[in-house]
Amino acid sequence: MIIILKEGATKEQIVNVEKRLIQLGFTTHPIYGEVKTVIGAIGDKRDVNRNAIMLMEGVEEIVPIMLPYKLAGKELYKEPTIIKIAQDIEIGGPKLIIMAGPCAIEGETEFIEIAKKVKQGGAHILRGGAYKPRSSPYSFQGLEIEGLKILERARCETGLLIVTEVVDTRDVETIDRYVDIIQIGARNMQNFRLLKEVGNSNKPVLLKRGLASTITEWLMAAEYIMSEGNENVILCERGIRTYEPSTRNTMDISAIPVVKELSHLPIIADPSHATGHAKYVPALAKAAVAAGADGLILEVHQDPPNAMSDGEQSIRPDRFIDLLFEISKIAQAVGRSL
Ligand code: PEP
Ligand code: MN
Repeated sequence: MIIILKEGATKEQIVNVEKRLIQLGFTTHPIYGEVKTVIGAIGDKRDVNRNAIMLMEGVEEIVPIMLPYKLAGKELYKEPTIIKIAQDIEIGGPKLIIMAGPCAIEGETEFIEIAKKVKQGGAHILRGGAYKPRSSPYSFQGLEIEGLKILERARCETGLLIVTEVVDTRDVETIDRYVDIIQIGARNMQNFRLLKEVGNSNKPVLLKRGLASTITEWLMAAEYIMSEGNENVILCERGIRTYEPSTRNTMDISAIPVVKELSHLPIIADPSHATGHAKYVPALAKAAVAAGADGLILEVHQDPPNAMSDGEQSIRPDRFIDLLFEISKIAQAVGRSL
């Protein structure tokens, strides 16, 4: 529920209401507006006597939150959330954020080479998987801790921020120490223990949409992370399973405006995993930006035919550079910039 305090409610009254809510078992999310303060109270309100709060000094009104995703939805937080990753890197603001790099970290030399190329092309954040959950247990599974160290070196050499995926609760603490953004992959979108674990991190979380998840299920997954205290969730549309075999998945472009309607969280798009084919990536990248995405995550590889993972959908660095130029024009048309 949302507790709206009266105009001019004193600091002491606000603190008292918050204390009472905490005593009643709620977690509180105060929002200090210019005129009024509101407190989001999240928890089970079945046994709570409304009057216990309504009659407190400074309280004007209590409004129930109807949506199941109370923190991810727009009832409590009406303004779009802008997630600050570094001094000049914000996701959800007027500037688009581009994350790029290979699917997996294959070795230091190759990775640093590609990192430099995506940096030159204009990427802000470097991607690369160190823990690779593959569809087959016999496929390359990632360099793990060695991969994280390579990521760290690439970060030092290029100044790019880094994002990598966590697939196991036991690795969250380690990965947290190395990265700027923690990625939850599509296959783990409903791994609730993992979601809770990253919910206790203070690093932003890139939450990919599950292979066959509805938007509500996706926002509930974000709610799991946020309810643990980490409200910096970036959603990522990466295509969903349909009956159409021409592409690896079907990019749900409409998910972008729908999420913007339902949630204040930023949303980026991953046309690489959505299409599965490098030749379709540019069109879908541009479509996502036109539809209102706050950024993109793109797989880029210097030698796609020999990539250890997802080569078919990886674009080459020269195509990446041209694509960002094309995207800058689309961005401008929709009131954004790169
Ligand atoms: C990835 O980003 O390399 C990845 C495995 O993506 P997804 O979880 O969307 O399949
Ligand atoms: Mn991949």
